[in-house]
Amino acid sequence: MTIKEYFSSLFKGLHSLIKGMEVTGKELVTKKVTEQYPENRDTLEISKRFRGTLQFIYDDEGYHKCIACKSCERNCPNGTIQVITKMIDLDNGKKKMVLDKYMYDLGSCTFCDLCVLTCPTQAIEFSNDFEQSVFRREVLLKQLNYLPEKIKPTPAPAAKPAAPAAAKPAAAAVKPAEKEDATKPAAESKPAAPQPESENNENK
Ligand code: SF4
Ligand code: SF4
Repeated sequence: MTIKEYFSSLFKGLHSLIKGMEVTGKELVTKKVTEQYPENRDTLEISKRFRGTLQFIYDDEGYHKCIACKSCERNCPNGTIQVITKMIDLDNGKKKMVLDKYMYDLGSCTFCDLCVLTCPTQAIEFSNDFEQSVFRREVLLKQLNYLPEKIKPTPAPAAKPAAPAAAKPAAAAVKPAEKEDATKPAAESKPAAPQPESENNENK
């Protein structure tokens, strides 16, 4: 190695060292992004768009909006959902098919969101709860309708509108002009036509 090559390689090494120290120095002053999990579990913020697991949407009274149409089951590409239905008798004597069990296998879900997008009643959604690790695979098969099924009372049939009053028969309707005629004396009516004399003579 010549003296020229020696100093050339020395300066390249120094240049590389300074570059590396520059990157390290920048990271020393930038905001930290490392999460101290699980110590910060209570304050941890997960993006709302993160798809952790499928879940039912219940309102304050414990009702969900699933109508057991099985659209989500048909659209799931890998058979993750099974909608089990049953027939019930309603107050009005009719029968109705309702949801019995909504089974979801988190172990085979690909989080594609097709089930949520094709649900006609927005009955399901993805939770961003990421802590789904378990020790046994069968625990990943979940029943999503975990509350007791409640059937909304059947609305009473609307009262029929009152039948319109029967139209008066035309003959019964009396026009004002006819009223005036009725007040006229009967004498005004024409007398009966006299019998011809020949007929009277024959009768004698
Ligand atoms: S997210 Fe996709 S794979 Fe998972 S249950 Fe819904 S449709 Fe099936
Ligand atoms: S969750 Fe939605 S798509 Fe699936 S059965 Fe219920 S109403 Fe139908």
